[in-house]
Amino acid sequence: MVVRRDSAVGEQGPTGANKTAKATKVSDPSAAENPARKTTAPAKAAPVRKAAPVKKAATARKAAEAAEAKAAVTRGAPSTRRKVPAVKPESRTALVRRARRINRELAEVYPYAHPELDFENSFQLIVATVLSAQTTDLRVNQTTPALFAKYPTPEDLAAADPQEVEEILRPCGFFRAKTKSVMGLSKALVDNHGGEVPGRLEDLVKLPGVGRKTAFVVLGNAFGRPGITVDTHFQRLVRRWRWTEATDPDKIEAAVGALFPKSEWTMLSHHVIFHGRRICHARKPACGACPIAPLCPAFGEGETDPEKARKLLKYEKGGFPGQRLKPPQSYLDAGGIPAPPLGAAG
Ligand code: SF4
Repeated sequence: MVVRRDSAVGEQGPTGANKTAKATKVSDPSAAENPARKTTAPAKAAPVRKAAPVKKAATARKAAEAAEAKAAVTRGAPSTRRKVPAVKPESRTALVRRARRINRELAEVYPYAHPELDFENSFQLIVATVLSAQTTDLRVNQTTPALFAKYPTPEDLAAADPQEVEEILRPCGFFRAKTKSVMGLSKALVDNHGGEVPGRLEDLVKLPGVGRKTAFVVLGNAFGRPGITVDTHFQRLVRRWRWTEATDPDKIEAAVGALFPKSEWTMLSHHVIFHGRRICHARKPACGACPIAPLCPAFGEGETDPEKARKLLKYEKGGFPGQRLKPPQSYLDAGGIPAPPLGAAG
């Protein structure tokens, strides 16, 4: 109370006791409400009762300053806060151009991008693709030679002893479910398609264990029909590149397909998947060694130091940038993509 009264005097100047007293009355609401307490115990009540209005005043002042700052920003006045660089909105035309340029750059980096599953005909490709779920292509390639040596045709696999097939497929993981799928698939090929792999999407997706992803792998690589393979790498990369924000594979397929001519779909899928496997990894993308870094909005999500980034590159079958990648002979024999339909040759 004493401090407050002095302060009031100081602010108003020594112009008389009445003014000081008036200021005291205004600044002490408790006194106004209960004058009796003012005369009986002013010293006791003061610290508690005066703290609240001061605190309220400070809060109100802060709120007013914040409101003023907000209003200033709204009016376009310069803000004292550090500016966060805004993401420049990209027009549809610019997005299409950037997406196609990324694909062209990747085509230079991975000139022989190809399906990394080993196969010699459409039956082997569809079986290998079904087996590749939840495991690596390398693991599948280590497993399928024994499988196809013992069961070279859909008829052979459809009539196999499931336990023997399970033993062969054990290294691929989920071997019971995968045995069921490939045997069911073989049986459906024999029963409904004369032992041949059909070349139409609508027929392929009806086969046991075959979804759109597998169907497009088969259509693109065994029949030369364009298709986008939306696997885990493809999903991750196209979101990093802001080609789409969709998370559903079918929506991703539609969104990305709309950015490219149909004729480029299959090779686009290979380029993206090659890049995802070798450089733009899920956890540690090697941004500092990435050939498309200038086109990538996600640059910096991974290691940007060139030396450290180079150590993150993965060497797999087919190599990585700088190497001439050599696809399997069976793929070259088929003429690459677009290829004479392997299905037509059996
Ligand atoms: S710059 Fe980084 S995030 Fe972008 S594509 Fe390259 S590795 Fe992936």
